[in-house]
Amino acid sequence: MKPNFSESPIKLISFDLDDTLWHGQQAVAAAQQALHDWLEKHHPLIAKEALSGRYLELRKEVSNDFPEQLHNLTFIRKEILYRLFQENSATENQALKYAESAFDVFFKIRNQVNYFEGALSTIKQLRTNFQIAALTNGNADINATGLTAHIDHFYSAEIVGAAKPNPKMFRLLLEDTGIKPAQCIHIGDHPEHDVLTAQSLGINTIWFNTLRKKWPEKSGPEKEVQTFSQLPQAIHDICLHHL
Ligand SMILES: [Mg+2]
Repeated sequence: MKPNFSESPIKLISFDLDDTLWHGQQAVAAAQQALHDWLEKHHPLIAKEALSGRYLELRKEVSNDFPEQLHNLTFIRKEILYRLFQENSATENQALKYAESAFDVFFKIRNQVNYFEGALSTIKQLRTNFQIAALTNGNADINATGLTAHIDHFYSAEIVGAAKPNPKMFRLLLEDTGIKPAQCIHIGDHPEHDVLTAQSLGINTIWFNTLRKKWPEKSGPEKEVQTFSQLPQAIHDICLHHL
């Protein structure tokens, strides 16, 4: 029997994005590969530099120079690319232009995400009873990934200026919607960023454990699921618990 969510004590369900709704690491790896391929074709010298470890050195340098921007993955990646080109380009304008083009190559593929099976259809179904939010540390463009039409609220580290486990995203969501923590369920793959941070504010949690890992902390989530097909039942169980 399908769970019935009318009269539910839960009002809002929020989702992490990378490795919760879609294969996040896979998307970033494919984007990095596309960036390398593009560099090799158009800027072979830079590609060689990047592959020889300069990219990682620059990542450290940029992180040290801009500690206040560490949550802003777009800024960090563009700055690394800019420095990489600057070290090897004739003019600053060229370096800026090439860095933008290189980032565009990366970002296009980064947003070509593979959703987990049943992710969008499950959200569509849930949205008939709950408000749906997305909270991400990543820099995916939710228009490009096709998610915008399926959610009511969106918060990212770039937008709020802080990445999980900082609870700012969750706090803003609660403030903006006026919904109490106990009326929310957050679903995510990261034990600390998603489960423990949401729990610290009193939000119910479901650990999306698609890799079937062992729970690493002492206190755990209310529920754990490995697939989207298991999610409605897990939500139903939490709703029952609150009645
Ligand atoms: Mg995640």
